Amino acid sequence: MQIDNRKQALQDKTVRISCVVPVFNEEALVDSFFEALQAKLLELTNTFEIIAIDDGSQDNTVKKIAALPKKYHVKLIALSRNFGKETALTAGLEHATGDVAIILDADFQHPLEVIPTFLTHWSEGYNMVYGVRENRDNESSIKRNFARLFYWLMTKITKIDIPNNAGDFRLLDRKVVDAINQIQERTRFMKGLYAWVGFKKLPVPFTVQERAAGKSSWGLARLTELALTGITSFSDIPLRVWGLIGFVISLISLVYAIYIVTVTLIFGADLPGFPSIIVALMFFGGIQLLSIGILGEYIARIFTEVKQRPKYLIEKKYGFED
Ligand code: UDP
Ligand code: MG
Repeated sequence: MQIDNRKQALQDKTVRISCVVPVFNEEALVDSFFEALQAKLLELTNTFEIIAIDDGSQDNTVKKIAALPKKYHVKLIALSRNFGKETALTAGLEHATGDVAIILDADFQHPLEVIPTFLTHWSEGYNMVYGVRENRDNESSIKRNFARLFYWLMTKITKIDIPNNAGDFRLLDRKVVDAINQIQERTRFMKGLYAWVGFKKLPVPFTVQERAAGKSSWGLARLTELALTGITSFSDIPLRVWGLIGFVISLISLVYAIYIVTVTLIFGADLPGFPSIIVALMFFGGIQLLSIGILGEYIARIFTEVKQRPKYLIEKKYGFED
């Protein structure tokens, strides 16, 4: 059922809100976070659900969420192991039933005060309202520069427009949730999928808070993996560029061959050339390995897709019965 008059629904507090919250080893925060979230949601609507997706936590996160008071309306999906945040979000969105879904982190880095702004813009007709971080200074400069390089590369080699510094903190209308749920890819890069589905979008700046407790689970290795997923899922240029490189190199070799033949014919066969042969050999060896490696990146992902394994497995669900 689509809401015809969003403004009216918002005023009447009848918008059904689904909050999708991935949690991974957040035992220190779940109590305070879900309490704060439910207090915020109560200000905004009479019907809401909070869907917590436990992404294979090793600590007491699941126990603590299952023990939360019923009035919090927290439903829990406990995945059978750690599938990664992108997959946890996928599980959450597939279970969300509301008119809108709001995605946010459980570590208080995404300020709850922004949620009303999200809803206001939604009521004005936007189908996706996304938070854009105004500050990245609580991150290391390596992470920051890495992100800059990644966004620069993505705009150059993909056709989709992924906004800078926008993360998973966003509101999605039912239409968008349904669209994303149709996507059956195994290797999921959510930031790309949000952009790929289209729909009328609006950015909202927000200030990233410090993590309230615990620590971030995104090291440089995981971020690199995510970046590779993003590039290989949304661009085929790394695959196709080798045709062009090969063509250019062949052209250069041809010109050089003509030059050598001419010089030999005119000046005789005095050809010193050992170092240049070695350099050329290493250059082409390197280029060939690089291109094979890039082929491998894509083939590995094709492999993952064709196996058709389920995107995630659920160990337990709580709170879905009513
Ligand atoms: N998270 C998850 N699975 C993971 C890693 C993280 O569900 O494998 C959750 C985590 O509990 C948090 C959110 O994703 O709610 C963001 O994670 P984190 O704070 O570690 O990332 P950062 O804020 O540093 O980007
Ligand atoms: Mg965080």
